[in-house]
Amino acid sequence: MNHAPSNWPGALPKGAADMMQRIVDNVLDLVPAAEGGALALPVGDGLEFAFCSGAYSPHAGSLLSPTASLAGKSLVQVATLHTDDALADSRTDRNMIRAVKMRSVICVPLRYRTQVLGVLVVGSPRPRAFAAEDVSTLNGVAEFIAAAVETATAMSRVVLRSPDEPSAFRSAQRSKVYEYVANVADPKLASRLEREERVRTMMTERDFSIVYQPVLGLRNQELSGLEALARFHPGPYRPPNAWIEDAHRIGMGNELELMLVEAALEESWTAEPRLFFGVNVSPSVAIDRRFCEMVERLGRGRVIVELTENETVAKHDELVSALARLRRCGARLALDDVGSGFSSLARVVQLAPEIIKLDIELVRGIDVDPIRRSLAAALVTFANESGARVVAEGIERQAELDVLRDIGVPFGQGYLIGRPGPLTVHLGQFDPLAGAAER
Ligand code: C2E
Ligand code: MG
Ligand code: MG
Repeated sequence: MNHAPSNWPGALPKGAADMMQRIVDNVLDLVPAAEGGALALPVGDGLEFAFCSGAYSPHAGSLLSPTASLAGKSLVQVATLHTDDALADSRTDRNMIRAVKMRSVICVPLRYRTQVLGVLVVGSPRPRAFAAEDVSTLNGVAEFIAAAVETATAMSRVVLRSPDEPSAFRSAQRSKVYEYVANVADPKLASRLEREERVRTMMTERDFSIVYQPVLGLRNQELSGLEALARFHPGPYRPPNAWIEDAHRIGMGNELELMLVEAALEESWTAEPRLFFGVNVSPSVAIDRRFCEMVERLGRGRVIVELTENETVAKHDELVSALARLRRCGARLALDDVGSGFSSLARVVQLAPEIIKLDIELVRGIDVDPIRRSLAAALVTFANESGARVVAEGIERQAELDVLRDIGVPFGQGYLIGRPGPLTVHLGQFDPLAGAAER
């Protein structure tokens, strides 16, 4: 029997990857004594824990020896292997066993026709955790699992085949076939591919514009700055964050975000220098050196970096040093959407932003909801004590603005004050010199 060619799970379409993940998730119910499940697939000369559940989850991506590990032996011998105490069993890889902390392990080879596609591994940190019945249960489903793995990987091979690969098809016919396969294999994939194509075209044609929304001092009603917001022209309408997410998915997110910042700041030169300009960036752009250079080159010390979603906890240290660098270039940090699920209070404490932007959700109906009011008031107190300023977003009604002013929110933004629009329109409506003094 020969082994299946290695299939990189990272390259699987989501539908296929989901199926692999369901295999290891559900095995924990099938064998109740199991505390972890893993699908070990061949890569190069060895095996990789490609999909993991339970106690194996932290070890996803680990490589296993084809000769020293129990899973490797199971693959090579095409035999189900079971150990009651992995630490006392010479067939196991001790280093691996210590790392994953499993004492009882069952490895089941996944045979499909003439191939062994990989090994299903279930484990428990307790010795003698599994009974003979568990082994036969797993042997009983092995064929089904192998068929599911084969289907998922076969789907991925077909779906991932580039439409411009040489073939007997004419190109239009080929892309029709490709779309059909993608729709069957992974219904969501087809529409995602289409959206991604639209992002590429939009970026090549620079088919977007920047609008600006005024930020007002709530006490004196004067303009103190503007937030730049992207508008993408191709229809049907999708919100800017959806376009940006699509761009990140195809590895062009930083490029797009930088393109938007550049466009926003280039236009800001026409405005009174004391007005600040808020630009939205995700953490991956905040740590991108090109962004820092752009802020230095175009920012003239008046950029507010509005940090959006909370995606890079892993890169926390990198983010903190990037923010220090940006501050040295004269930028200030605003944490966006505070009070929503995206921006936790812990993040406010960790990043010490100069500006806290209260999320629309917190502002909507603040005049009739005592809980929203007291949470916003608590954030104002916190901001005052830590030297930060508060900007309330999404003010739509006068009663909301009145409450926000009463609880001491110094700045506001929203449809009541001004809708996002061309820079010249806003600059014509406000007297910036009066407002700039309040900053
Ligand atoms: P955000 O930064 O929190 O921006 C505030 C959003 O609220 C904007 O939506 C704005 O148009 C909208 N808004 C303003 N006032 C009101 C109001 O009174 N009521 C309501 N209901 N909405 C109001 P928009 O422009 O659709 O942007 C959505 C999000 O997309 C932004 O949220 C931001 O996270 C992201 N985004 C927008 N432009 C850019 C950009 O150029 N770069 C990046 N990285 N993200 C952007
Ligand atoms: Mg924002
Ligand atoms: Mg916001």
